[in-house]
Amino acid sequence: MNILVINCGSSSLKYQLLDMETENVLAIGLTERIGIEGSRVKHETVGKEKVVIEQPMESHKEAIQLVLDTLVNPEYGAIASLEEIDAVGHRVVHGGEKFAGSEVITEEVIAAMEECIDLAPLHNPPNIIGIRACQELMPGVPMVGVFDTAFHQTMPAYSYIYPLPYELYEELGVRKYGFHGTSHKYVSLKAAEMMNQDIKDLKIITCHLGNGASVTAIKDGKSLDTSMGLTPLEGLAMGTRSGNIDPAIVTFLMDKKNLSIDEVNHIINKESGVLGISGVSSDFRDIEEAAEAGNERAQLALDIFHYLVKKFIGSYAAAMGGVDVLVFTAGLGENSVSSREEICKGLEFMGIEIDPERNNVRGKETLISKDGAKVKTFVIPTNEELMIARDTKSLVSKNLIK
Ligand code: ADP
Repeated sequence: MNILVINCGSSSLKYQLLDMETENVLAIGLTERIGIEGSRVKHETVGKEKVVIEQPMESHKEAIQLVLDTLVNPEYGAIASLEEIDAVGHRVVHGGEKFAGSEVITEEVIAAMEECIDLAPLHNPPNIIGIRACQELMPGVPMVGVFDTAFHQTMPAYSYIYPLPYELYEELGVRKYGFHGTSHKYVSLKAAEMMNQDIKDLKIITCHLGNGASVTAIKDGKSLDTSMGLTPLEGLAMGTRSGNIDPAIVTFLMDKKNLSIDEVNHIINKESGVLGISGVSSDFRDIEEAAEAGNERAQLALDIFHYLVKKFIGSYAAAMGGVDVLVFTAGLGENSVSSREEICKGLEFMGIEIDPERNNVRGKETLISKDGAKVKTFVIPTNEELMIARDTKSLVSKNLIK
């Protein structure tokens, strides 16, 4: 069974074609600048040369058409015809309270996704446009929606209800939803598999540290708490997002600087985080480089980020009554030896002890804790596409049997 995984953003679209008998990737690519001048697709069929095709793409439908044409291209494609695509898995950012798992896409499911648009105005619309375009171009091919929020639907009310008037939750759905769920689920399952233990017997803290970053507490195999909230703004300081700040700062800034909602939103979403603190970049590689060259604000940005991750690890260990497993994933978590070292420094009291030599890895699935350390610490590269393809395969197979 071949499954096409689509992650459709506002102006870009990432895709992977996977053979689900072997779970091998057949082809991978990215279309950029959809609807903007200079649009192109970067495509690689495994075992063949990479290609970049520059072609105007006015809409997501045109982008998906180009992806499909590329996949069946005799020279650089991966399959002979579109009939070899058995199902499509779509990443959807916000499923609100409606989706606690992945769903076969029907008109009712799309309507429910549309109801979540208020909660993710930047993300859900392109996700839905991508689904519609695929339906038009691949009629009859089963499709599945996999939600970033679904894994966190197991959180108990005491972790997802904000201390606001309860009516705001009832009227507007103001609560913690959490994101990166597919990634937290994948790496926690993988850690349990690497330990040869049932995930239900483990207390796990997963740190997804990329441009967007979140930490999750997983107990009994279920998300108990996570650092992102109603939106992906809450929690850690990130590339450009502030994460947790005193909420009064928002109204204070609006008042003192006479800012509109859009302007203050721009500050806390696009100009803050490690970019705001360092003034250097939102990219951790640039910040690490600047800090090494003696830039004090770059160093401060790193110190703040590490300190915040450390505090989440401590608080989630308290929330779960201990911790057995700590996992680092995503761009920074997988690749930054020094960040992992700084985050874990001082946590020996709770059994987190990493081995400097084992920690000297980038992008590899590996144990980095010392032998005998109470907490097993891992680096596990995330694989959201594989998780989406697995859910798609399982739901589509179930539906075929029905
Ligand atoms: P997203 O998917 O949220 O855009 P990623 O998971 O790709 O983010 O992570 C991107 C971040 O990871 C960037 O800030 C980048 O600098 C950081 N990163 C990637 N490789 C390294 C590395 N070798 N050292 C330090 N940071 C890295």
